[in-house]
Parts: sequence; C-alpha cells; structure tokens
Amino acid sequence: MVSVFVSGATGFVATHVIRELISNDYTVVGSVRNVEKGEKLKEHFPKGFSYEVVPDLAAEGAFDEAVKKHPEVTVFLHTASPLFFNTTDVERDLLIPAINGTKGALKAIKEYGPQITRVVYTSSFAAVANFEDSYNPSLTVDERSWNPITYEQSCGKDIPPALAALFAYYGSKTVAERAAWDFVEEEKPNFVLSLVNPTYIFGPQEIDEDAKGELNASAQIVKGLLESLDEKEVQNYSGGSVDVRDIAKAHIVAFEKDEAKNKRLLVNQEYFSTQGILNILHEKFPQATNNAPVGNPSQDASDKNKLVKIDCSSTRNILGFDLIPLEKSIIDAVDQILSVQ
Ligand code: NAP
Repeated sequence: MVSVFVSGATGFVATHVIRELISNDYTVVGSVRNVEKGEKLKEHFPKGFSYEVVPDLAAEGAFDEAVKKHPEVTVFLHTASPLFFNTTDVERDLLIPAINGTKGALKAIKEYGPQITRVVYTSSFAAVANFEDSYNPSLTVDERSWNPITYEQSCGKDIPPALAALFAYYGSKTVAERAAWDFVEEEKPNFVLSLVNPTYIFGPQEIDEDAKGELNASAQIVKGLLESLDEKEVQNYSGGSVDVRDIAKAHIVAFEKDEAKNKRLLVNQEYFSTQGILNILHEKFPQATNNAPVGNPSQDASDKNKLVKIDCSSTRNILGFDLIPLEKSIIDAVDQILSVQ
C-alpha cells in the first residue's frame, strides 16, 4: 500500500483529500497542530489514517521529525497554509508561515525522506494573477501566468488596511510557490514537484459536524450569505470557483499521472459572484433565506463580465474528469449546514 503524507490534515481541502486517498487504497499520515485535532480525524477516518503533531508550520525544522518517523511515505502533499484575513500582522501570520512552511517541508523531504518521489504543493489562483488583473476582462491567464507581486509588496505597507490581508494572502501563495520551484531547481531533490492551483473552493465539509461552526475562508462566504440578514452585511466577492471534491481528486491526479509532473494544475470550473450565490440560495432554499437580502439578481452577470478570462484547458485534459458545477457545490454545502443546525 502506498503511504501519503498530508500536511494541514484538518483543513477544508485536506480532509477531502484524505477521504479520496483512503477510498483509493492509499494510507495517510496527516500533520495536525495538536493531539486533540489528530484524534478527531482518527475517529472520522478509522482505517488507513494516522497523524503526527506539527504545531507550527513556520518553526525551523517543523517537519523533520514527522518525515524521519515515516520511511514508508513515498508521496507528500503540502496543503497547510494560513488562509484567513482577520490579522493586522500579515507578515507574521500569513507570509512567514506560508513561505517558511513550504521551504521547511521541502527541506525535510530532501534530507530525511529520500524515498519520497512525488510532492504536490497546494498553491492557488492567487499565484497566477494579482488582485487587479483578476478584475481585468480583457486579459486571459493560464497555467503559465504568474502574479508579479513581491514579498515587500505583499507586506502591505502601501495598501489600504482593508485590503492588506487579502494582498498578503495573494503574496504568501505566490512567494511560497516560487520558493518551491526554486528549491527544486537549486537543490535537485529526489522528488518531482506538481502543483494544484485552485480558484475559490466551495462545497460541503468532509466532516458534517464541522459545518456547525465558523468555516474556512471560502466556505464561510456561502455560510455568511445564508445567515446574512442585512444588505450591508453582504461583502462582494467574485472570481473563479471549483468544488472541494474535485480539488481532492486533482491532488491525486497531480502525483499519479506522469503528465502532471513539473506542472501546475490550474483548476477552475466557472465564475461565481456573491450575487450569483444569493440567487441560488433564494431559488433553492426559499425557506432558509426568507430574511436574507435579495440584492440585485441581474448583477451576477455584470459582476462576472468584469473578471479575467481563465484558460485551464491544459489542466482539464490532464485531469480527465468533469468538474462539479457551482450550483451543486452551493446546494450540497447549504444542505449540510441546514442539516446540522
Ligand atoms: P483551511 O481549512 O484553513 O486549512 C488550512 C490548514 O493549514 C489547516 O489544517 C490549518 O491548521 C493549517 N495551518 C494553517 N496555518 C498553520 C500554521 N501556522 N501551522 C500549522 N498548520 C497551519 O484552508 P483550505 O481552504 O483547506 O486551504 C488549503 C490549501 O488550499 C491552502 O494552501 C490554501 O492556500 C489553498 N487554497 C485554498 C482555496 C480556498 O478557496 N479555500 C483556494 C485556493 C487555494 P488548523 O486547522 O489547525 O488551523
């Protein structure tokens, strides 16, 4: 049985990746921040899952012991990275953990896991286009496109505070991905690197219970809209979107298929807008959204018309499966939220 290490095992994406791995007969070692989180996952995945505690991604040598302890692991999926926006110290909370965590994981693999031959790093659309270009409809981006943001720009000194954390997140993913490619070029490790660069990820939680609380940043957009009572509470988001279950499958393709070697898989299904999600919520869940704002239903189309064109045809050829439509991602997420309330 092939054994796969998954960093950030508690995450929205990682829990789906673990389920997909186990159902494809892989065994999984996940890294979690503490024993309590590890035990909760073990309860959910009673077969084929074990865990190691890695309390802080950013710490020097964070992954060394975990990698040393598992000579059976031959594939490493690095999904862990901070994804939240309620911080005023973006360097400490977003940039350093994302970048040092990635470099540290790759260094540990090279030094202590020479048997590891495939590594997948979960990057993001944020490393493909910068914030401004994401809203430029005359531009087309694809797997070869890069966000030009630098580390210094990501620290947000010249950016309005309301946007600083968002810019820093874009920067954290871009600089960390560059560091991963540089590591491979300079260190010539035993492993081959592949990337998964998703747009906004929606869909249900792997663990039903998790749908009760505050969700990860992207899933919370949908929950926030479902629970919003006032037009003023609605924050405007728009961009590409993809279902978390497809992102899980893409991680498997990224290390199983030769065509994915040294490639970025830019995974996007279709555009979304906050207004478009509100429209789905009102149409499919009229009772639950009785008091929620309606907004301006026709604004969905105009918001989507303002977005950059995303050409991910090469990725779709490599993936070889159809992606779940946005409407299903939203319906499944909301069904789950309502069922656990
Ligand atoms: P998530 O639910 O917030 O999961 C992030 C994971 O990283 C969690 O396991 C978290 O641990 C761990 N982590 C974060 N900071 C850490 C630190 N300093 N030390 C140790 N562990 C830390 O986010 P997600 O949506 O699953 O995202 C997974 C990956 O996909 C990330 O790399 C993200 O950038 C990328 N991505 C996500 C989206 C999206 O829309 N969600 C889109 C594109 C790319 P705890 O659970 O203990 O906090």
